[in-house]
Amino acid sequence: MIPPGASLGLLGGGQLGRMFAMAAQSMGYRVTVLDPGPDSPAGTVADRHLKGEYLDDDRLRELAATCAGATTEFENVPAESLRYLARHCVVSPAAESVAVAQDRIAEKTFLHDNGFPVAPFRVVRSLADFDAPEAAALVPGILKVSRFGYDGKGQARVRSVEEARAAWTALGGEPCVLEQWLPLARELSVVVARGFDGTVATFPVAENHHQHGILDVTIVPARVPDALAAQARGNAVALAERLDYRGVLCVEFFVLDDRRLLVNEIAPRPHNSGHYTIDACVTSQFEQQVRVLAGLPLGDTALHCPVVMVNILGEAWLHAGGEPDWSVVLGNPCAKLHLYGKREARAGRKMGHYTVLASSTGEALAQALHIREQLRPLAQPAQPIPSAPLD
Ligand code: ATP
Ligand code: MG
Repeated sequence: MIPPGASLGLLGGGQLGRMFAMAAQSMGYRVTVLDPGPDSPAGTVADRHLKGEYLDDDRLRELAATCAGATTEFENVPAESLRYLARHCVVSPAAESVAVAQDRIAEKTFLHDNGFPVAPFRVVRSLADFDAPEAAALVPGILKVSRFGYDGKGQARVRSVEEARAAWTALGGEPCVLEQWLPLARELSVVVARGFDGTVATFPVAENHHQHGILDVTIVPARVPDALAAQARGNAVALAERLDYRGVLCVEFFVLDDRRLLVNEIAPRPHNSGHYTIDACVTSQFEQQVRVLAGLPLGDTALHCPVVMVNILGEAWLHAGGEPDWSVVLGNPCAKLHLYGKREARAGRKMGHYTVLASSTGEALAQALHIREQLRPLAQPAQPIPSAPLD
């Protein structure tokens, strides 16, 4: 066990790292962040910020020499860095687990081969891969780059094989997966933690709504039948075990119109859809990440009350013509504001989030959407959030 007072290392300086650092510090740990940026969200709150690339030998050596454990806040951290650190200190998650999640081809293949249902897909490495009859069966579809995609970036919706070919070239001719476009009844996610001793704990199932490929609203508990929620939690546990995963992992699911549950993707770290746990659960996903890394027993994941989380994107600044009027969030006694300290607001950039706690998901959603409307009226809501639960 790594006791409070020790130093924990973190690869990556984004908001997930910031919230990890804050959780670790409140438990008495010191946090060292390795990140190339000058004033990253995590770097500015960490006890120490090592400014450098993730493959910088000197920086990695320093991290390994001064930290008892190390973790990561984003999946694109080079697996070599984690492998190096693992020779000197405790590392969670392992390089091998991160490698599966950072490459869509490896991820889909792993899921499919291990019996987890996924959307029908085909690996595309050259234009010739579109010639097969299997490709024609996958349109209308969505083409996704295998590496470094996030928040809907590196993706293109395609209506025909012809469009898919053009999209593949426009995406840079990189390895991709072509996935069938599916009618979704809901999107869910489950954050699961697995300790070095093999103990597992899942957080309550989250119901997620996106706008333009970016997570917008998370509702917890998910408004789906109990059996479906239990199936999602069960799948998340099975996946963590199958990967022999040690750390915090998020599994994103699609619920189809016929109520089949498919795994969309996995993230080897806490997830945006798990931010609600900070305000609404006995243990947050970030405290859980600390607990796994430090070899502490997993914390209780019980939900205190229904909760809705809304992302605050750069659009709020553009709409306000400067710093938004935070009194619209702070004036609600049941709303919790979280800002990530990013200096520059850009469209689509995640700048913060807020949660609203209430006695029902309906009440929390109504208040959360009222706040959102004042912060950032949507030009045209792509898809309104359904008010009724899924039956
Ligand atoms: P993030 O990193 O934010 O999770 P991402 O860029 O990795 O996103 P995906 O999760 O693959 O991208 O897709 C983003 C969203 O696009 C999904 O949450 C879903 O709303 C929609 N989507 C993706 N694939 C499909 C599909 N095959 N059928 C229908 N909708 C899809
Ligand atoms: Mg996703």
